[in-house]
Amino acid sequence: MRRGGRTGLTLIAACAVAAAALLFAGATVSPARADAAFDRYVERLWPSAKKRGVSRATFDAAFKDVGPDPEIWEKDAHQPEFVMPASQYISLAVSDTRIEEGSKKLEIHADLLKKIENKYKVDRQVLVAIWGMETSYGTYMGKKYVIQALATLGYKGRRTKFGRKQLMAALKILEQGHTTPERMEGSWAGAMGHTQFIPTTYTGNAVDFDGDGKRDIWDTLPDALASTANYLKKSGWQYGKTWGYEVVLPKRFNTRLAGLRRRSSLAQWRKLGVKRVNGEPFPRPSDRASLYLPAGRKGPAFLVLKNFRVIMRYNAATKYALGVGHLSDRIRGYPAFSTPWPDGVRPLDETERRELQELLLAKGFEIGDVDGVIGSKTRDALRTYQKQKGMKADGFPSPKLLDSLRKDS
Ligand code: CA
Repeated sequence: MRRGGRTGLTLIAACAVAAAALLFAGATVSPARADAAFDRYVERLWPSAKKRGVSRATFDAAFKDVGPDPEIWEKDAHQPEFVMPASQYISLAVSDTRIEEGSKKLEIHADLLKKIENKYKVDRQVLVAIWGMETSYGTYMGKKYVIQALATLGYKGRRTKFGRKQLMAALKILEQGHTTPERMEGSWAGAMGHTQFIPTTYTGNAVDFDGDGKRDIWDTLPDALASTANYLKKSGWQYGKTWGYEVVLPKRFNTRLAGLRRRSSLAQWRKLGVKRVNGEPFPRPSDRASLYLPAGRKGPAFLVLKNFRVIMRYNAATKYALGVGHLSDRIRGYPAFSTPWPDGVRPLDETERRELQELLLAKGFEIGDVDGVIGSKTRDALRTYQKQKGMKADGFPSPKLLDSLRKDS
């Protein structure tokens, strides 16, 4: 779907877990400043849009009152800040809350998931896991108007080609009437709906599963989950097989064998002394796998299979694929990783998160309400505080950071 450097969005979603306060009020167009150059950019898009079958009425409705949104450029520029160690990433992405919610979703939507699984031959747990990772099960789908976000990217900055291409696809979606401009919400980078398809992924893979004639991934859950299944199927999903195994390495082991570039059969890995953590044999020893060490030699180790790579087609980050795979296992009832992270950081519980927010407020940081949800404002405040203290500014709410704030108060 979107390739590289996009982990940030998932994490924003991860941090906004309980963002129940976000009402589904429709996409908000940020106030437009008069910008003649932007208007000319939009008008230059018209011939291409027309050639793709977009009507003038659709085009005008799509761009009505739309100006560039500077926040989009800011978000784009700040992406690297979200690069964080796998231990932190996984603890945020596969939180207890998200596992519990995922198990509930499996139950609530059992009939629908069974139908989708039967049709596309994609395991239901991975669909639910992607839904959880992308938008916390539809809680946080992004509130940007996708046309405005993509036009902003297309107009100026380092992603003009991406913005324009996605914009053309988005206009076609509107032309075909699958949704309306008001409902076409998404992330700042144009990822849309329950499982965050960018427009070109949508045009190639979205399906109308409930049969009402619309491929509606925003407001029709059957369409959104079936579209995700269809995309995974087309990417080569192997039904009934795992994404990977947690393994232990022998004492002496050449870690240069790790990395996704090298693929060997599970039998060959076994010969090198690599074993499953539960001691059981690999059920399909001829399947080919790569060794993935997300935290180096001392942390958890994994042999990852074809399905891991399929998940990476969705988002080309190994940490993301590990998050989806692990979340799908946890909602099946499988255990947490057995090897601890070398830099293992315990995530804060809700009481601690609230205390952290109160301490930040007392220090004058504008983080909004104390709600126990670590959103982007809290993370920004944490980074600023960390910089002031000469700490690594990762914005991660660790017990150590809470202690530091306590001492400072
Ligand atoms: Ca539909």
